[in-house]
Amino acid sequence: NELPSLPLQRARFLTLGKSFYSEVTPAPLSKSYRILLNEPLAKSLLIPDSLISSEKAIAELTGDRISATQTPVATVYSGHQFGVWAGQLGDGRAMLLGELRDNDGLQQEIQLKGAGETPYSRRADGRAVLRSSIREYLCSEAMHGLGIHTTRALHLSGSKQYAMREQPETTAIVTRVAPSFIRFGHFEHFYYQGRIDELKQLTDFVLQQYYPHCLSEENPYAELLGEVAIRTARLVAQWQASGFMHGVLNTDNMSVLGLTLDYGPFGFMEAFNHDHICNHSDHQGRYSYRNQPAIGQWNVFAFGQTLVPLINSVETTEQALDNYKSAFEQHWQQLCCAKFGLETVQENDANLFNEFFQLMQDHRADFTLSFRTLSHLKIEKTADDDELFALFSGAQALPDWLQRYRERCQRENRNDSERNAAMLAANPKYILRNYLAQIAIEKAQQDDFSEIDRLHRILQQPFAEQPESEIYASLPPDWAGDLCVSCSS
Ligand code: AMP
Ligand code: MG
Ligand code: MG
Repeated sequence: NELPSLPLQRARFLTLGKSFYSEVTPAPLSKSYRILLNEPLAKSLLIPDSLISSEKAIAELTGDRISATQTPVATVYSGHQFGVWAGQLGDGRAMLLGELRDNDGLQQEIQLKGAGETPYSRRADGRAVLRSSIREYLCSEAMHGLGIHTTRALHLSGSKQYAMREQPETTAIVTRVAPSFIRFGHFEHFYYQGRIDELKQLTDFVLQQYYPHCLSEENPYAELLGEVAIRTARLVAQWQASGFMHGVLNTDNMSVLGLTLDYGPFGFMEAFNHDHICNHSDHQGRYSYRNQPAIGQWNVFAFGQTLVPLINSVETTEQALDNYKSAFEQHWQQLCCAKFGLETVQENDANLFNEFFQLMQDHRADFTLSFRTLSHLKIEKTADDDELFALFSGAQALPDWLQRYRERCQRENRNDSERNAAMLAANPKYILRNYLAQIAIEKAQQDDFSEIDRLHRILQQPFAEQPESEIYASLPPDWAGDLCVSCSS
């Protein structure tokens, strides 16, 4: 009784033709084994139950077994890295296997990360180490749990095959999923070579497949730009509101669908610092927490530049780009209102919010715990106040802020329990703290995968109380302050 195969279809991207990609052959990891399978995602992709636990499924999901009708490809793109034109990059270690139709009828691309060299690997090896693969898997699922648009992780396989980084490390393959992995850099690639026919072909493809509602507009290209600007602004506002820092916001890591894409030296804010830099190679702090909104805009401008020949009007292009700033401000305000439990917008709210951020900054209060603890606040003073004070190391200025915040809450139509419930649904309890990832990674490096599995489960419901996992919501231990996330991955 032959098991069915994965119902993989030919990726739509391939219809673009050969100047957009190179055919590749995945190089399997020797004696690889499954570490994690994302069961809810597998089910939503309609992978048959009988298949999913089989060796055959593992082989098909990791590139060990490619059917005769499949054409794995690596796509070509360019990009600006740290603000500087870097020329051609491309999928140096990602391979598109095909597409699966999900239970909403949407086509989802299936991509391998770490399955060996491609024509775009340059001098690197096409591999991904276990450490960074675990981080990508856990963080993309944590973001999904937080309700932030992201590429997903379906499968993680490991092996005893080594790759050389600062030291030799074992390698892994993440199988990731998204409606499309097209980046701003794909557009830049053709624009900067003056290949306008291919640029148009790519843009028409993106319009038809992902933004079909723009096609009926007077200038579909301007409409596309305007929407990408809005989606990117919304995404960055969500990052700011959850304390997420991407770490490498180069244009080749920017999704044209507004998804969080390419998890490298990312981090979640703990002790609050506006200027926190999570990427240790980012010496200027270009991608610091504070700079992310402006960098998002810079990147959207870089994308807009490539569409000028198609939009055919600098003025219309600029109008579409203006969307970014207004959309960011609108989403940021909405998200802040939700985080502070306010339904209405009133004068001075922005000041009240900013003062809280400044208090967190002055006292290096933990971002996630500060908002979560605030979510329990009652109009009458209770013992919960003490918890907040402890987080702000007894800040002298906190009582005054709390008094004004309570007065502000009283100008709403919500009672304590309504406000608390709304805030607990907006302020997560569980985030992927660096030290939690580090503990899970170290166990996994000793072949104990229980901790990544547990973290994955906890992070699927970041807003829920999970009494048995209370400890995963606590402040990082002292040793975590010295944690350094290496960029080589
Ligand atoms: P990143 O900074 O991770 O977004 O990667 C920038 C470029 O380097 C992309 O073209 C990647 O595909 C490529 N790259 C990163 N790591 C590797 C690797 N180990 N092997 C091949 N290409 C890589
Ligand atoms: Mg990248
Ligand atoms: Mg990367």
